[in-house]
Parts: sequence; structure tokens; C-alpha cells
Amino acid sequence: MSLNNKVAVVTGAASGIGEQCARKLASLGAAVVIADLNLGNAQKAASSIIEAGGKALAIEMDVTNEDAVDQGIENVVEEFGGIDVLVSNAGIQIVNSIEEYAFTDWKKMLAIHLDGAFLTTRAAIRHMYAAGRGGSIVYMGSVHSHEASKLKSAYVTAKHGLLGLARVVAKEGGPRGVRANVVCPGFVRTPLVDKQIPEQAKALGISEADVVKNVMLKETVDGEFTTVEDVANTVAFLAGFESAALTGQSVIVSHGWSMH
Ligand code: NAD
Repeated sequence: MSLNNKVAVVTGAASGIGEQCARKLASLGAAVVIADLNLGNAQKAASSIIEAGGKALAIEMDVTNEDAVDQGIENVVEEFGGIDVLVSNAGIQIVNSIEEYAFTDWKKMLAIHLDGAFLTTRAAIRHMYAAGRGGSIVYMGSVHSHEASKLKSAYVTAKHGLLGLARVVAKEGGPRGVRANVVCPGFVRTPLVDKQIPEQAKALGISEADVVKNVMLKETVDGEFTTVEDVANTVAFLAGFESAALTGQSVIVSHGWSMH
């Protein structure tokens, strides 16, 4: 599958899953934009893609900021002449029980995961429509788009919400050649997950090894973590798929943890 001459924006691409998505899309020929809050890390990721022979640009973008998103996407279009693929991936995790969950944390979670997805979608789709050459939007959902876990009220709510957004974008965008899908990974060892292991151990009163074995990987078919490569390969498949046969879907990449 080739993404030659396509322009792909990946949010939260300075680390973890997003960074691997950017690498994979670049290896398939796309010019990739690493859009992240952390410009220093975004520049490092872009440099390493360029060193490997790819085309990449780092931009600072807070996906919760309407002006920053609109301006960032505008700059991408000026620089590369358009936008064909959006991977809405930026995300954080804040775990706590509902009775202890701070309202500011709840709002921060929904802002990054849902406002971020909406704002980047709106900015990208305006250009996709104007250029008349369609496009593909991939949201980074989670197994938590389909399942619930203790201590993750805001995350589960936001990740379920992305399914709704993707389905509406699929319906509105379909007649204009824009597809929208959700990739739903199980646990992947990134900074986001490494931070949660001691936090969950403390909150649940169990060891870190037990968090990995009996909480994170308990329901998988083989006790294995999903990898950034597994997720990026699935994103690339959806980004480059040739028709609207695949739109409004969610693909779960989780070693069988969830089988919806
Ligand atoms: P990560 O912490 O490695 O990377 C997240 C990136 O997002 C960072 O570079 C960070 O700077 C950036 N970011 C945070 N807030 C931002 C904002 N407001 N604007 C722009 N960028 C921002 O995390 P990851 O594990 O790679 O997670 C990426 C996505 O994958 C998230 O949406 C997460 O919910 C999802 N996900 C992760 C896992 C997992 O197990 N790691 C599983 C399922 C889904």
C-alpha cells in the first residue's frame, strides 16, 4: 500500500504510538507532520524520520486550543499543499476512582481526547472538502472505546465518544470522499502506560507485577502487550484503504482482550 504524495498529520506524534504511526506513514511515502504539545520531542521525531529518508515536519500544537489547531493545519496546507490523512492520537491518562476524581481532571481529559479530536477533524476536513480529493481520518480509540475498567471514568467516556464522532464524520464525509475509522489498541508499553502501573498498584493495593499480569493483560489470549508497530500498521492500513467500504468502523488491536 502506498501513501506516495499524501500529506498526513499525526497529533501527539512526539512519543509512543503516534511517533510510530508517523514513522510508518512516512515509510509508505507520506509527508508527515508531527503535531505535538512538546515541540522539542516533535523535532527529534521529525529529524529521525528525515534521517531515515522520509519527509517530516514538526509543529507545536495544543489540540485543545481552537486557534492553535486552525493555524497549525493552515500552516501544514501552506507548506505541503493540502492534507490527506489525519491521525487524531494525542492523549493522556488520569486514573482515579469516581468519588475522588477532580472535576478539573475530568475536563482536562475530555478536552484532550474529545475537543482535540473535534477541532483537528474540523480543521482538516474543511481543507479536504475544499481540495475535493477526499481523505482519511483515523482516531486513536482504545479497547476502552468498547470496554470499561475501574478508575478510568473520563478515559472510558472519552474513548467511547470517539466512536460516535467517527461514525458521524463517516456519514457526513462519505459523499465527499472522506473516511473515518477508529483504531482501538489494548495495552501498549509507552510512557502513558508506564506511568499508570505504579499508580494502579497503589490505588488497587496490589504489586506492579500483578497490575501487569492480572489487570492489564488478564483478558488477552496470550498475556502479551500490543506493540506500537501493531497499532501503526493498522493505522496505515486504514489510512491507505482505497474505498469507503471501510468507514465508520473500529478495529480492535488487543491480543484478543476485546472481541467486539
Ligand atoms: P504517550 O504519552 O507516549 O504520547 C502522547 C503524546 O501526546 C505525547 O507526545 C504528548 O506530548 C502529546 N500530547 C499530550 N497532550 C497533548 C495536547 N493537548 N496537544 C498535543 N499533543 C499532546 O502516549 P501513547 O501511549 O502513545 O498514547 C497515544 C494515544 O493512544 C492516546 O490517545 C492514548 O489514549 C491511546 N492509547 C494508548 C494505549 C496504550 O496502552 N499506550 C492504549 C490504547 C490507546
